[in-house]
Amino acid sequence: ALTIGIAGLPNVGKSTLFNALTRASVVAANYPFATIEPNVGVVPLPDKRLDRLAEVFGSERIVPATVSFVDIAGIVKGASEGEGLGNQFLANIREADAICQVTRAFQDADVVHVEGRVDPRDDIETISTELILADMQTLEKALPRLEKEVRGKKAEPEVLETAKGAMKVLEAGTLLSAGAQEAGLDPEILATFQLMTSKPFIYVFNTDDAGLADEAMQAELRELVAPAEAIFLDAKFESELVELEPDEAAEMLAETGQDEAGLDKLARVGFETLGLQTYLTAGPKEARAWTIHKGWTAPQAAGVIHTDFERGFIKAEVISFDDLVELGSVAEARSHGKVRMEGKDYVMQDGDVVEFRFNV
Ligand code: GDP
Repeated sequence: ALTIGIAGLPNVGKSTLFNALTRASVVAANYPFATIEPNVGVVPLPDKRLDRLAEVFGSERIVPATVSFVDIAGIVKGASEGEGLGNQFLANIREADAICQVTRAFQDADVVHVEGRVDPRDDIETISTELILADMQTLEKALPRLEKEVRGKKAEPEVLETAKGAMKVLEAGTLLSAGAQEAGLDPEILATFQLMTSKPFIYVFNTDDAGLADEAMQAELRELVAPAEAIFLDAKFESELVELEPDEAAEMLAETGQDEAGLDKLARVGFETLGLQTYLTAGPKEARAWTIHKGWTAPQAAGVIHTDFERGFIKAEVISFDDLVELGSVAEARSHGKVRMEGKDYVMQDGDVVEFRFNV
């Protein structure tokens, strides 16, 4: 499964957030094939459509899609030079598919800030710099090799050009996730270099009541990290929220003027950032969301349920969720011509409710 690495400076609330994520983790019984590791939190992707589907089909249980978060050891200034936990940190970040950077935006004189003051802008700069320096080192090592390969016609000249272009972006102090497109770098070639700053980023600002209400501050930080997503939450509050029953939690959220829990927001944005989407299945036993990559075809999607489904794929019967809910049942949807027969080239759409037909 794809994972999101949680990273950030020490004392910004990473552990608090990660503990909340672990406590929000799905019951392992629903996911018999998931290996549960201590530094991985597997949280459900909130999806209200599953509740509606379970009503329509009288399903016994709901199985949401999940998002996996990995706790990454703290970064310090000088990580790119292998200082302290630096090497471990970089190794962990390399393994993650996206990076969620937690930044402190709460005031609390009792919690020491490593740099002696709370300044999200500066903290982001510190971490970006370490990752940029580490990527520059990687490229510096790769360039002589690539030059030799191109001279010996063992590699395409585009590969070398892309590496040089990436170096320019980094030298300008820009993360590749933010600057590669503008520089016209080929994403597929870029991916072969295994650089950290070309992974998608999400920024979590760990803030307090004052921060959650401060729209001007939020707008400023959103602009700073764009095109990456920014999420504002109170990690301490979130860790208390996950201890409550769902209706108590909803009440508590409403009292603080929030429409969605920060962890739910993080799961949603994380899932999206990983380039994933879901399709839905439903029956008397369960209403379930299945995870696929954006752009996958019907047979690929079927393969997520079982490899036999992909191999023996005949067709998919697809109803869009909105049509199904509006008409109230599969039979009604069918009589209104809203059940589509889709073949092996069909590209799955968000909200497809599917039944696969296959040969065994
Ligand atoms: P980490 O080093 O990034 O993992 O940070 P921790 O999660 O251990 O948090 C460092 C300290 O900050 C702890 O004492 C937490 O209780 C406190 N802390 C974390 N989040 C918040 C928050 O949202 N508000 C306040 N006031 N304190 C927090």
